[in-house]
Formats: sequence, structure tokens, C-alpha cells
Amino acid sequence: MALGEFDLIRRYFQHPLAQPGVHAGVRLGNGDDCALLQPSPGQVLAVSTDMLVAGRHFFPDVAPRALGHKALAVNLSDLAAMGARPLAFALALALPQIDEPWVQEFAAGLLALADAHGCALVGGDTCAGPLNVCITVFGELPPALALRRDAALAGDDLYVSGSLGQARLALEALRGRWRLPEAALVRCRQRLERPEPRLALGQGLRGLAHAAIDLSDGLLADLGHVLRASGVAAQLDVPALLASPAVGPDVRALALVQPALALTCLLAGGDDYELLCTAPVAARPALERLGRELGLELSRIGRIVAASDAGPQCSLVDARLQPYALPPGVELQGFDHFA
Ligand code: ADP
Ligand code: MG
Repeated sequence: MALGEFDLIRRYFQHPLAQPGVHAGVRLGNGDDCALLQPSPGQVLAVSTDMLVAGRHFFPDVAPRALGHKALAVNLSDLAAMGARPLAFALALALPQIDEPWVQEFAAGLLALADAHGCALVGGDTCAGPLNVCITVFGELPPALALRRDAALAGDDLYVSGSLGQARLALEALRGRWRLPEAALVRCRQRLERPEPRLALGQGLRGLAHAAIDLSDGLLADLGHVLRASGVAAQLDVPALLASPAVGPDVRALALVQPALALTCLLAGGDDYELLCTAPVAARPALERLGRELGLELSRIGRIVAASDAGPQCSLVDARLQPYALPPGVELQGFDHFA
């Protein structure tokens, strides 16, 4: 290694935002044994860790700038889903070798997103090993306003933000399971490799939504987490979903020729990093206003109902609440690393 560990950190991971006096939430950045964080008065820390492993979460030859972006984005997405505001993060990085152009690009993608959201890189660990990026992110929020998974109530509406399925469609194309026109592939890869964490939405949902979660494993899998934690069931209105802006543009085109694959992408896609939330019916006007303010679609795709002893926790229904039959070939299992 031409460059030592400490030179590498100094050169690429010394974040201007973490220098003394720059960020109100950071008393001390990296360089000591610990960083010192200071949440705003009356707020608590929200903490989350996500790891990206080469060959498992990304192709080893992925553009390093995109990888830096995504590694932080998936962590910020967890803060968004809790309604938290980002403060800082720590980066644990294993690199097979020190490839300076690679590290420079990686750091550029990482720190551009960090700057965009005022999230300071305050520490980490760097070692040699198979490529692995692990980030722990720290945010803050008033504890009573946290958007918890266990807070969904029967009678709530069910919403998703933005559009779903494009990232999964990119993956299907990159694995050679589906051919996409060039422009569609570019759009879908953008969603797969450069997800935008919905932080403004998450904070806007404070006091409006009951429960929220970010969609990393797929709509049905992540909805299942909310239902189990809250002890409720849901009716997902599939025709409402299909008619809504929650269907990504290229997934909509796909639905015309290959409906089963389109439904797989929508219902079990994974890597969407949109927010799913539940909110009381009385919050509909406020949510419409919030969506307009943020320029982000909020699609109402179903409702929370009381749990019953029998039957699945999430039923797929049509507008008249009759069971919705999926076409054959839809693959519904959410992504589980050990399944
Ligand atoms: P220690 O031996 O106390 O764990 P290290 O030698 O691992 O400390 O790291 C020295 C300093 O550099 C620490 O303040 C640590 O937070 C910081 N650091 C290490 N790796 C990174 C990184 N990838 N990004 C930012 N800071 C880092
Ligand atoms: Mg260390």
C-alpha cells in the first residue's frame, strides 16, 4: 500500500462539516478515540446501522461514486422512516487494497450526499479485507414524534411515497432476466444505485402519520413488519396501487407486456427506499398538502384493519374489497438473506 491508513483517512475522510464549530450537533469530529455528539435540547438520538457487502448488496465493479452515495443513502433512509433529522455518521470500511482513484470517487459520492443533508462524518474504522462498507448514522428527533413500526391503528389509511419497482427492474435487467431499452435501463439503474432518502417527507410526517417504515426489502415484506409490530392486518387495494403514481414509469410499461413481473417488482421489489406510512383518515388533507409541498407523490393504496385469527395479515383486495387474484408467476417472497 503506497498510502497508509491514517494518510488515507486524512486525505479522503476528513469532512469539513465535522470540523470544530461548523455543525451544532458535532462537538468533536474524528481523530480522537470517540466523536462527541450533541442533540438539540429536548431531542433524543436516533441510531441505525446498515452494511453493504460486495457481491451481496452490490456488484463488486459498481461505480465507486454510486457506492459511496448508496451506502449513506440506505442509512439516511432509516432516519427518514423514523422521522429523524440527520446529525452525523461513522464509516467502517474494509478495502482489498488502497486504490486511490477508487477511494476518491467513493468519498466524493459519500460526502456529497452527507453535505446535502447536513450529516457530518465523525469517525469510523478502516482496515484491509474483502470490500465492505458499514455505516452507523445518528439523527435526532423529539421522542414523542418518532414514527414507530408498532404504531399503526385499525382504520388508518396506507400510503407509499414516490414510485416502486424500478430498482428491482434494473436488477432483473442486469441479471439478464429481462431486456430493457437503453433509456429505461438508465432510469432504473439510477433508482437502484442512487436512491434518494426521503428525509423531508419523514420529518413532514411527524405528528401526521402513525407508523412508518422505509421500503428496502419490498412492499409486502416491509408492510408485514409494520403489521406484526402493531398487531394489525391490512387490505392492500391492488387496483388502486396499479392506477397510482406509485407504479414507476418503466414498471408501468412492463405491466402491459409482462404483468406478473411488473407485480413482482411492485409488491416484492426491494431497494425502493420510499416510505410506507399509515395515517388516520382525518390526516388526508394535510398529507395531500405535504406531498404537494415536497413535489412527491403520496399514493393511498389500502387500509389498516383489525387483526383476525385466521387469514393472512395482508390481504390483496380490489375496490369492492373482494380478493384480488394475482396472475401466475408473481414471486412474492421479500428479500431475506438467510432464506
Ligand atoms: P482507534 O484505534 O481508537 O479505533 P483508529 O486508529 O481506528 O482509532 O482511527 C483513528 C481515527 O480515525 C478515529 O478517530 C476514527 O474515528 C477515525 N477514522 C478511522 N477510519 C475512518 C473513516 N473511514 N472515516 C472517518 N474517520 C475514520
Ligand atoms: Mg479502529
